Amino acid sequence: MEKIQSVRGTYDLYGEPKRKAKKVVEIASQTVETYGFEEIETPIFEFTEVFARNLGDTSDIVTKEMYTFSDRGGESLTLRPEGTAGVVRAFISQGMKQNLPVKLYYTGPMFRYERPQKGRQRQFTQFGVEMLGVQSPQADIEMIAMAYSFLQKLGLEGSITVEINSLGDQESRDAYRAKLVAYLKEHFNELSPDSKERLNKNPLRVLDSKEECDKVVIADAPLYSESLNETSKAFFEEVLKGLDALKIPYRVNDRLVRGLDYYSHTVFELTTDKLGAQGTVLAGGRYDGLVAEMGGGDIAGIGWACGVERLSMLLGDPVPLKRPVAVIELGDEAKNEALKIAYDLRNAGFKVEHAYSGNLKKRMEKANKANAYAAVILGSDEIQKGVATVKNLDTGAQTQIALNNLKEAL
Ligand code: ATP
Ligand code: MG
Repeated sequence: MEKIQSVRGTYDLYGEPKRKAKKVVEIASQTVETYGFEEIETPIFEFTEVFARNLGDTSDIVTKEMYTFSDRGGESLTLRPEGTAGVVRAFISQGMKQNLPVKLYYTGPMFRYERPQKGRQRQFTQFGVEMLGVQSPQADIEMIAMAYSFLQKLGLEGSITVEINSLGDQESRDAYRAKLVAYLKEHFNELSPDSKERLNKNPLRVLDSKEECDKVVIADAPLYSESLNETSKAFFEEVLKGLDALKIPYRVNDRLVRGLDYYSHTVFELTTDKLGAQGTVLAGGRYDGLVAEMGGGDIAGIGWACGVERLSMLLGDPVPLKRPVAVIELGDEAKNEALKIAYDLRNAGFKVEHAYSGNLKKRMEKANKANAYAAVILGSDEIQKGVATVKNLDTGAQTQIALNNLKEAL
């Protein structure tokens, strides 16, 4: 019989890689909770419309990458390709705008039909944050600071660059768009077929293209900074000053755009040169137009999301497992006492390995293999005296400890 395989671009995550991924999510959650963010869990699938509206129908995600299907009732549903759409949908459908600002974080699997390669999966995990209802640049500064401290806590600040740009307000974006369209029209014949089409529907997205021929044209495209009006410039200056005050190193990258229509003002990416072409580990920006676009009124928003697997791959040191205590009984009389001790120790929060079979030598071998720091040995002698022999497995030192002092001794 043919062996059953997992679907291309999906992975079974266990052992060391799972521990690393878990650490990434734990540190991310701890960090954003210090900023007052609270976790939200939205459904893994939504009406296709939620993503199509949110991401725009010319984005790569919507045109090529979504897992869309009809359910048995004939509804068109889509496995979420990213987290913002679901959170904003929940914000609107739960009427959360009564209590602004709203600060939420999420984590979980995302699905995109992409060409699988290192750092590019069809099911992957994102951790993300969204702040709704804050218009001032202080929000932008704190969102970037939060991302930076998170990566710092993971020990990655040396391998990460913060790239930042401003797309300005609506007026600036319209001005830029006009300049860009004029420029791209002059180079129409050099563009890829996709970009030719984007030029009509959403010219900004051409700047996001990964096609070589487009990159050549993009290299000399007008700069965003030249189209920013005074308000937008002032906003951006304030964001940069805030980052300076916090001593967060950054690089203004005039070529950085986020391809989606609703982005405005600050956009940023945290990148690394250690993952080849898949160098963006965290990306985000301000999306003041999105909530309105989805029918929720004029509410400012800003958020970021990171790729948990890409970040895990950057963690060099293995994540250590907590070391257990091994409980080892000798002979049948000690069996129940050993069970009881293991049960009590576990209830008190100790990690306990209890070998189920074998002689003393075998059980000691198992204890060492589990990297136990101590063995609690129980024979008939010990039971009679109400003690256990506790062996420190690092030094070999051995002492008898009264059973009711066991927890303190360990
Ligand atoms: P890319 O340019 O690499 O395709 P993106 O702009 O599509 O990234 P976002 O939608 O901004 O990515 O998602 C945020 C983060 O999620 C990315 O920076 C990346 O770390 C991670 N990510 C995105 N797509 C994948 C994928 N297919 N596999 C693994 N991680 C991914
Ligand atoms: Mg992508």
